[in-house]
Amino acid sequence: MAYEYIDRNLQSLKTRIEAACAACGRNPEDVRLIAVSKTNPVEAVRAMRALKQLDFGENKVQELVPKMEALEADKDIVWHMIGTLQSNKIKYIADRVDWIHSVPKLKALKEINKRAGQAGRIINVLIQVNISDENQKSGCEPDDLPALLEVADSMANLKVRGLMGMASFTDDEAIVRPQFRLLRVLLVQEQKKGYQNHVLTELSMGMTNDLEIAVQEGATMLRIGTALFGARDYD
Ligand SMILES: *Cc1c(COP(=O)(O)O)cnc(C)c1O
Repeated sequence: MAYEYIDRNLQSLKTRIEAACAACGRNPEDVRLIAVSKTNPVEAVRAMRALKQLDFGENKVQELVPKMEALEADKDIVWHMIGTLQSNKIKYIADRVDWIHSVPKLKALKEINKRAGQAGRIINVLIQVNISDENQKSGCEPDDLPALLEVADSMANLKVRGLMGMASFTDDEAIVRPQFRLLRVLLVQEQKKGYQNHVLTELSMGMTNDLEIAVQEGATMLRIGTALFGARDYD
């Protein structure tokens, strides 16, 4: 059938992650795989779920919403919003999304808190930090992170669980590694502050091309699309 390749891809990706963990003495169970299903149909998600892969990531609200609806009966799926999120679209996902990785500012935090409250839920949030310092910047500046976490600590309907970052799009390890390392340093700094509500344990970093470096630098969540579903024609 059409999605046989998904089985092979998942197995070889797991082998790759295990090797990356072995090389730096980490337990693969501490690295959660998020299958980035963007641009792929609901059938691809179903095929992956049948293989017991249950975490899925989407980068657009207009793709996430129909997939969450189509797979409404599959309560075991954990949905991750990983893409740049306009505050006015949070209302469309707040009743089902489990994690939002890409929260860069206070306005979005307030809106998530409000909409999650209306839905009677607590949403897991990661603060996206700009670690690559490129012109197409996304994420909050490292200097702004402490103030953001301070304010968000009193928001009852979200829980900040860690940080998310995207490295520069390059094969140059000398550029990528310090970017991931910065994210970890920031997390460790914030862990020491003893927030009331946040549970700062997660580092969402690493994609198909840089997952080994991310694992070495402490990633706890890998967001992987291409290695699982093949190359995309568009994003
Ligand atoms: C598409 C996407 C990924 C996955 O990228 P691949 O290189 O296909 O593994 C990870 N994170 C975000 C935010 C994405 O948009």
